[in-house]
Amino acid sequence: MKDIEIAQQAKMDKITKIAEKAGLSSDQIEQYGDYKAKIKLPVKENSKSGKLILVTSINPTPAGEGKSTVTVGLGDAFSLLKKKTVIALREPSLGPVMGMKGGATGGGYSQVVPMEDINLHFTGDMHALTTANNTLSALIDNHIYQGNKLHLDQRRILWKRVLDINDRALRHVVIGIGGPTQGIPREDGFDITVASELMAILCLAEDIADLKKRIGRIVIGYTTDKEPVTVAQLGVTGAISLLLKDALKPNLVQTLAHTPAIIHGGPFANIAHGCNSVLATQTGLKLADYTLTEAGFGADLGAEKFLDIKTPVLGKTPDTIVVVATVRALKMHGGKPKNALKEEDLSALTAGYANLQKHVANMRRYNIPVVVAINQFSSDTEAELKHLKELCESDGTPALVADVWAKGGKGAIELAEKVSQLCEEKHDFKPLYAPEDDLQEKVEKIVTQIYGGANVVYGTKALRQLKDFKTLGWDHLPVCMAKTQYSLSDDPKAIGAPRDFTIHVREFVPKLGAGFVVALTGNVLTMPGLPKVPAANEMNLSNDGIISGLY
Ligand code: ADP
Repeated sequence: MKDIEIAQQAKMDKITKIAEKAGLSSDQIEQYGDYKAKIKLPVKENSKSGKLILVTSINPTPAGEGKSTVTVGLGDAFSLLKKKTVIALREPSLGPVMGMKGGATGGGYSQVVPMEDINLHFTGDMHALTTANNTLSALIDNHIYQGNKLHLDQRRILWKRVLDINDRALRHVVIGIGGPTQGIPREDGFDITVASELMAILCLAEDIADLKKRIGRIVIGYTTDKEPVTVAQLGVTGAISLLLKDALKPNLVQTLAHTPAIIHGGPFANIAHGCNSVLATQTGLKLADYTLTEAGFGADLGAEKFLDIKTPVLGKTPDTIVVVATVRALKMHGGKPKNALKEEDLSALTAGYANLQKHVANMRRYNIPVVVAINQFSSDTEAELKHLKELCESDGTPALVADVWAKGGKGAIELAEKVSQLCEEKHDFKPLYAPEDDLQEKVEKIVTQIYGGANVVYGTKALRQLKDFKTLGWDHLPVCMAKTQYSLSDDPKAIGAPRDFTIHVREFVPKLGAGFVVALTGNVLTMPGLPKVPAANEMNLSNDGIISGLY
């Protein structure tokens, strides 16, 4: 059965019941219909020692890894063990829903529901972010048109328009053409909403005061004298903040097995920081004994950013990291073609294991207990599952099979027991870089210690920016790498565990509101395109309102 069919058959509990299960009374939530709610802020603390579990994975392949599926299934397994559990996930973006992937709410019997709503317009957070972003764009262009008191250089505007759709035709646009009353012509461009600075801000803000502070310090561009100009100088911090008043509140839904799930904020991990909101994770930690959260794509992207960018704001490090791998994907990393993945192949599995081995070593480097979750597919053979377990165990890494797609929480009981045992282990978090390291030192530590690269080559623009950012006092911010998700390197074709490669940084983008600097590597783009046959071509709506093809 398809994911959407399983989700459509689900008997959901009313959201008030789910809230109660999470420890929230009906006056602590705002209902959006029967099955969705926003959680009012601030949330009162119930649990003093909530454990945090971070789910991450190997580099994705077209064979699929199933991080969300495992996060949801593992959360349901904790619920079955009678542990008070909350799952915190990212909100799907319509870009990949219509493009590559279909839905992003887990799969099989490990899903969050209402799956259709979550994948489509949900509670409107993405629209609020898009509108707030583009309101700022309109205010910037109006400022220039109305006399440009701030002397903004229209060739040096950093703030781009956004849309939550993959639309390559909008990557570079010219606006303000058509005559003197149509605005001042300039080059602009669109990013996808989930790559926007406002999305990062929503995900890192601790409360309304922090949201406003961060929005006020966004650098929108430079003056003709190359001085940075902020939103606060434009005088519109209040307007942009109020457009995000409701989007800032975490969204509450449930899994198929009625475990409370908070779905809030959805930056991609390749072009943004890849984690759900600090407020969502914090809410989980305040309410539950176990909070399970997921960081996007492979551990080189989402988990590194979770540990180096989100953790310092969250003020809590994970108690255990779960690295998800599949036999199929590892066989692909070992060179097996996609159309032959059903064949048992222990040697391809051994070769591909190098990718998992590197990610596990990287997570261990932070000094946090690590366990491998082998997300079982029906085509996996007993010999392959056993072999993968043994490969992990020979490196001292516990590895357990999770059959959550087919069985829901029941398929991950042993994994949940292992994770809860690891959560009790004492560990001292060892960060990758110190706050006082400069941008170059931070990039180099990420490249050499996490990616396995030998060195970094900076393009002419990046080198100039390193100097300028030092003068501006921006050279000690954390770095958010924008890199392909498919490889540890910046070449998407270099699968497995490439070594001693060079990473190319072509440009930095200052995101002072988010509090980091983005480093653009390789050819990564902040507005994706649609594939040859988009997932949209499979979708339909029946005359009686039933959706199909969402996945
Ligand atoms: P990720 O979070 O890593 O992007 P998802 O959990 O969203 O991956 O899963 C991607 C797709 O793969 C979903 O459609 C899901 O149903 C499918 N999938 C995940 N695990 C399995 C499995 N064990 N067997 C079959 N399909 C699976």
